[in-house]
Amino acid sequence: MSAPAFAKLPHPNPVTDDVRAAAIADPMFGRVFTDHMVSIRYNEEKGWHDAQVMPRGPLTLDPATAVLHYAQEIFEGLKAYRLDDGSMALFRPEANAARFNASARRMAMAELPEDMFIAAVKEAVAADAHWFPPVDGGALYLRPFMFASEVFLGVKPAAEYQFLVITSPVGNYFKSGAPAISLWVSEDYTRAAPGGTGAAKCGGNYASSLVAQREAIAKGHDQVVFLDAAESRWIEELGGMNMFFVFDDGSIVTPPLTGTILPGITRDAIITLARDAGLTVREERYAIDQWQADAETGRLTESFACGTAAVVTPVGKVTRGETSFTIGAGGPGQVTGMLKDKLVNIQRGRAADPHGWVTRL
Ligand code: PMP
Repeated sequence: MSAPAFAKLPHPNPVTDDVRAAAIADPMFGRVFTDHMVSIRYNEEKGWHDAQVMPRGPLTLDPATAVLHYAQEIFEGLKAYRLDDGSMALFRPEANAARFNASARRMAMAELPEDMFIAAVKEAVAADAHWFPPVDGGALYLRPFMFASEVFLGVKPAAEYQFLVITSPVGNYFKSGAPAISLWVSEDYTRAAPGGTGAAKCGGNYASSLVAQREAIAKGHDQVVFLDAAESRWIEELGGMNMFFVFDDGSIVTPPLTGTILPGITRDAIITLARDAGLTVREERYAIDQWQADAETGRLTESFACGTAAVVTPVGKVTRGETSFTIGAGGPGQVTGMLKDKLVNIQRGRAADPHGWVTRL
């Protein structure tokens, strides 16, 4: 199926230039939104239809709308970057489209053709490119999402869905601007069990992670580390980022995609870039006790987390119960910095793009 023609609805009340300029001067993350959104609807009779670029505004939902009861909801997150020549680009949007459909299948939701997903994202950027924030590390963060819009009570997959894309001008994810983050290992809560929804980007995964994230913040840390559900032994990922470990022999380990962690697009790019740089990357389980032991002996020299929002973020310190350990010198490491630069340079069009990751708009 080819991408639909999007109806462009007139905006009765666009945000004025001065209000927009003030809003994007220091946008932080996920607090400022543009004034358009893209919507496509699905039902079993018509398939995907009613594609629109419209003024951003509240959704009116019947109280029996299925998502409010059974949580059939999935989302994606990707950024539109501004290249040095002033043009805009997306990073691997086809990977987001494919993961969106993998999430849809796991949640028994309708799949959205990949070209429609990409067309919708491009429409969102085109409508609001003038919202691009003039800040260091700035981007337009795009949030495609889909929810069960059918009105009924009963535990079964819905027959109607609404897909939307909203856009948020963003700056850095970590407001502290700290050179390295501090992690709290959750020993009371797990994020995903074998056979569960850990590999899907569904809202429910994040709902169940919040109590652990709140605990981490309350104890003075930036993020929570989840361990596996079966043995509480293996490092899985953070609440919204994948993990990498760098050793003194130059090799790198990242937890494998066993179905309980999100297959991050940044994770995949980092694995590829590290291998391109001649480093050995192993996708294998890494135990929390081993992490501490290796950090203490110096066999482990760096650790970092990565994701679209946080890019590549060094880990400085890890706390588990009453004990803490420091990674390397507690600040950004050399391999972490090298991989981050390689990634950012491709994303911003400053380096060659040998894997065809950049879609210019
Ligand atoms: N893990 C989780 C749980 C996430 O929410 C994210 C953010 N999407 C990631 C990892 C990183 O994924 P990506 O690199 O595709 O942003």
